[in-house]
Amino acid sequence: MGKSYLDNLVGVFGHPVAENPTVVMIEAAFHAAGMENWRYLTIEIPPEHLAEAMKAVTTLNMKGINLTMPHKVEVLRHLDEISEAADKIGAVNTVVNRSGKLFGENTDGKGFLESLRKDGGIDPKNKRAVVLGAGGAGRAICIELALAGCRHITVVNRSANRGEELARRIEEKTSARADFMALTPGFAVPENTDIFVQATSIGLYPDTGAKPDIEYDSILPSMTVCDVIPNPPHTEFLTEAERRGAPTLDGMGMLVYQGTIGFRLWTGKEASVDAMKSALQREFGVAD
Ligand code: NDP
Repeated sequence: MGKSYLDNLVGVFGHPVAENPTVVMIEAAFHAAGMENWRYLTIEIPPEHLAEAMKAVTTLNMKGINLTMPHKVEVLRHLDEISEAADKIGAVNTVVNRSGKLFGENTDGKGFLESLRKDGGIDPKNKRAVVLGAGGAGRAICIELALAGCRHITVVNRSANRGEELARRIEEKTSARADFMALTPGFAVPENTDIFVQATSIGLYPDTGAKPDIEYDSILPSMTVCDVIPNPPHTEFLTEAERRGAPTLDGMGMLVYQGTIGFRLWTGKEASVDAMKSALQREFGVAD
């Protein structure tokens, strides 16, 4: 089969989508695996065209598609089947075309768990977690932590209704216990916390100096402290945690692992974590 024959198309639908970095890491993984007739396309799809765009995934015989803002919830209406976790989270970011039937998965929280286990050496079973943020990333992380056996999750959020809704969702959909605390200046992390996650968008490029307004002296060396922000990977939040002697995990690890899960679902092959990480580091202009 000639290299110009591209029968293996995947990609991402978003709005706006131009800055989405996934193409860089997935194409690096295709290249590292010698998969020259695979391509990852970054496609601008406004909300009013999502239904047609999802039909096009099967019409064009694409192997699958990622969904990013604002499509992760709306896409549920256009799928044939979804995973149990995606159903509990209420959002899908990865779709697989299985012989014309569209299957939805959510890899955000799974990527976080893989980074926690592989890079952090932490098993969430019976642990106590505190998660800042109740948006898409916070929701996926909380549900996956709970499904992985986390005993208790405290959701901390600026807007109470979103945070309370997530705490309720965790208790309804999983066997973990959950509560809500307001994200107010001086918020102190409870000292029995094992896993402390920053899942708000605070600190994302270009707002790189920003960090959540909390009591950083409440972070203890016994806590594993994680940030979802992939760019820059080394955030002010993680710097503060390191100063208190806590082991840390950055959002680039989560981004790479969630990419490897999508890659596996679409291709049936393992992606090169090193190739994906190096490509992202080059894209974000950070040193190895
Ligand atoms: P959402 O817009 O769904 O949620 C944003 C969250 O951040 C909400 O909880 C919001 O609180 C909170 N927040 C935003 N600004 C502030 C502020 N100034 N003060 C306090 N709280 C604030 O975004 P997502 O959950 O989809 O994404 C969050 C971050 O996660 C993004 O930076 C994204 O890049 C990153 N991400 C990383 C991934 C990875 O693989 N590493 C994967 C997915 C996302 P409120 O509810 O009060 O508005």
